[in-house]
Amino acid sequence: MAGPEISEIQTIQHDIIVIGAGGAGLRAAIECAARGMNTGLVCKSLLGKAHTVMAEGGCAAALGNVAPKDNWKIHFRDTMRGGKFLNNWRMAELHAQQAPDRVRELEEWGAVFDRTPDGLISQRNFGGHRYPRLAHVGDRTGLEMIRALQDHAIHQNIDVHMECTALDLLLDRGRIAGAFAYWRESGRLILFKAKAVILATGGGGRAWKITSNSWEYTGDGLGMAYEAGAELIDMEFTQFHPTGMIWPPSVRGILVTEGVRGDGGVLLNNKGERFMFNYIPERFAPETADSVEEAERWLAGDTSARRPPELPTRDVVARAITKEVEEGRGSPHGGAFLDIASRRPAEIIKKKLPSMYHQFMELASVDITKEPMEVGPTLHYFMGGIRIDADTQQSTTVPGLFAAGECSGGMQGANRLGGNSLSDLLVFGYLAGAGAADYVRGLSSYPEIDPDQVRQCIQRATDVLNRVEGKNPYLVVEDLQETMNRYVNIVRTEEELTTALKELERIKKDAATVKSPGAAQYNPGWHEALSLRPLLVTAEAVTRAALVRQESRGAHTRFDYPGEREEWGKLNVIVRKGARGMEVETEQRPEPPKELAAIAYATLEDLEGGNG
Ligand SMILES: Cc1cc2nc3c(=O)[nH]c(=O)nc-3n(C[C@H](O)[C@H](O)[C@H](O)COP(=O)(O)OP(=O)(O)OC[C@H]3O[C@@H](n4cnc5c(N)ncnc54)[C@H](O)[C@@H]3O)c2cc1C
Repeated sequence: MAGPEISEIQTIQHDIIVIGAGGAGLRAAIECAARGMNTGLVCKSLLGKAHTVMAEGGCAAALGNVAPKDNWKIHFRDTMRGGKFLNNWRMAELHAQQAPDRVRELEEWGAVFDRTPDGLISQRNFGGHRYPRLAHVGDRTGLEMIRALQDHAIHQNIDVHMECTALDLLLDRGRIAGAFAYWRESGRLILFKAKAVILATGGGGRAWKITSNSWEYTGDGLGMAYEAGAELIDMEFTQFHPTGMIWPPSVRGILVTEGVRGDGGVLLNNKGERFMFNYIPERFAPETADSVEEAERWLAGDTSARRPPELPTRDVVARAITKEVEEGRGSPHGGAFLDIASRRPAEIIKKKLPSMYHQFMELASVDITKEPMEVGPTLHYFMGGIRIDADTQQSTTVPGLFAAGECSGGMQGANRLGGNSLSDLLVFGYLAGAGAADYVRGLSSYPEIDPDQVRQCIQRATDVLNRVEGKNPYLVVEDLQETMNRYVNIVRTEEELTTALKELERIKKDAATVKSPGAAQYNPGWHEALSLRPLLVTAEAVTRAALVRQESRGAHTRFDYPGEREEWGKLNVIVRKGARGMEVETEQRPEPPKELAAIAYATLEDLEGGNG
């Protein structure tokens, strides 16, 4: 099939298009519409199905409902500490200050949060948060957030374009003019003309074999922004959760909650050894049991006993499993066994872990009350992303391009605290909507679409269908995922990262020759082939940034550069497209504003006086 002429392509015009309908995209679109913009909302899947629905634990905001001493300053302080002080100071400030208003607003729009006995939004404890701070709805917070946002959005005169995948951003002399996309069902191409684009496409975990991320997470926003000239910041910080299912394939990567270990589940290697006793770092040793007997007493409620060795921070457990596998003691599919079945009666497991039981039974016929699970580190979240201005969310280099949510970078620094993503989506979705509307209002001339660029987009999209022969795109994606899992995993070395770059060069060549047989209609092979471009940008950006950062900080662990290094705390790693391919450089971070530095380094007593 030859590509269509431009005049044959459906064209849709909006003031602003928002690409992505998760928490960030929905909140951004609502704000654009509220400010009088003709707004289009584009998403790959059906409205309401975005990755945000998977979020379980809650949404962090210093409401002070459960702990009246909590306030934005303590939330800010916790976030900076969690991010190892690499967070964008202004973003962390805006986030902590504005999250409570955004959560209350969501409640006004109909979100039914769990309540305190006196009827306020209830808040729960979570790792790294000083106070109970996570507004939640059981373990289905993301679902309720999306439901409330969606119910509100559909009454705001927003045009929703579902099952529509954006492939390229269109530019008019460097500024945004729209986006090029296709309908997934019919395979027909679309031109969106727009004065501004907000990217809210989420992360890129699908570049790894084992990930908790949904199929939508192919790094599309990162890829499109990079190709259009935007900068990516601190891409090396990818968070791994230690216990994702690694077998059977139908549940590969899906999270097994920490609750399984908290309720007595133990990690075993292929010799049946409870290996976590061998991996407790010095700083956790005083609070960790050093015998099975003591760990069992803790489990039975003896408060004089110390915690079992399976319960240190996520990075410690993830690295221990990796080490067991490397030394030949891993489970058959390259992980460890997580056994709760032999530790607790079936009825207790079903009562305490109903979602886990139900999920693995339904999706994989694995009965966790009868057999151990095979688990391993799973790529969970991207701290890095599109570099933007903190107040407007506009790209630092492409006028008219905005980004919010997991595809943007800076807010979370070197490591994200649980619960800080859902609040990030609301705060920065709102700010991106406001920023884009202000930008459009300030334009003195409107951008035009460049026909030559559109022709290139058509050619790139249809080449995959037109080739006589070529590699199978599924095999190339699989090759990429294996490569990233093997060489750019939780612990990295220069040798591995250099090997990964060589492998990526080889995979890029394969990707340039993939062929998906059949026509454009209902063609999942074609969709897979088109996802290769952003996946490869994402993979290469993470790998190059990880090679440059010669220290271990937050979620980035270099075996050859252990520990944090002071000089690296003052540097961001920036990735951009250069004339000869991907360029990476370090950039000096600006000094933090004095008043924010004072809060970040203050004692809790100083900050507990209230919100003032
Ligand atoms: C299992 C799990 C549990 C989690 N629990 C929590 C938690 O308790 N608290 C917390 O704060 N965080 C949690 N997180 C993280 C959090 O869920 C995500 O970071 C967040 O939902 C990302 O939201 P988003 O709006 O940026 O993107 P998403 O919700 O993923 O939305 C992305 C949107 O972009 C669309 N899209 C992507 N590419 C394209 C394209 N090319 N064209 C058109 N549309 C496109 C998708 O269709 C989708 O609509 C969890 C994550 C996982 C995996």
